[in-house]
Amino acid sequence: MLLPGAAPWALGAVLLNHLGLTAAGLWPRSTWLGPNVRRLPPASIASREWALTLDDGPDPAVTPAVLDLLDAHGAKATFFCIARQAAQHPALLREIVRRGHDVQNHSQLHRHDFSMRGPRALAAEIGTAQATLSDITGLRPHCFRAPAGLRNPLLDPVLHRLGLHLVSWTRRGFDTRDADATRVLQRLTGADGCALAAGDILLLHDGHARRSLNGRPVLLEVLPRLLAQAQTAGLASCTLRQALPPRNTA
Ligand SMILES: [Zn+2]
Repeated sequence: MLLPGAAPWALGAVLLNHLGLTAAGLWPRSTWLGPNVRRLPPASIASREWALTLDDGPDPAVTPAVLDLLDAHGAKATFFCIARQAAQHPALLREIVRRGHDVQNHSQLHRHDFSMRGPRALAAEIGTAQATLSDITGLRPHCFRAPAGLRNPLLDPVLHRLGLHLVSWTRRGFDTRDADATRVLQRLTGADGCALAAGDILLLHDGHARRSLNGRPVLLEVLPRLLAQAQTAGLASCTLRQALPPRNTA
């Protein structure tokens, strides 16, 4: 205001800042808006561990088959569940835990406008999911993944207060959009299968599962091949509950 000629520049700077924050929120793997777990910690890498994460379940048409595939390969996974769906299928959620897997928080409703919400709405959406999932499994989630990975600068203080790590991924398969199992697998492991490494956090979906050309969920075609490749690479699967310590809320 003291330098009228500078006003357009100041406005421009505010606009750029706003665009920068928006871009950071639209880039799920960015760390600009607070800590964001994209790989497992060094101890897990030293133990040659990787983590399979499955979002948007539980789904009674897909998740039971996923559990059988995981058992057949002696693998463990982390399920980022939509809490409202978990409440509709509590026995399935308990079965996930009973078979040695991990249940974490993927919000109560998986709202598509999640990243546009204010602090109160974010706290309600995440806190309700914490209560829902804890009541069913008896275990309190300590990891959160934002719907579609999108977020805003108000999210990290809420997660910090609730003792939740924000977890994204190292690579994702885009398996809710792509019906081609080979392409989905290659996004996760590289064209020649060589990208798979200790510390990787990989993302697939047991909910909102896309069907392949022969009508089966793509995930069920990708998973046996992915688990076999991980075994060949000498990697051991672990859950996020095993790999990540509680987030300090102090
Ligand atoms: Zn999701």
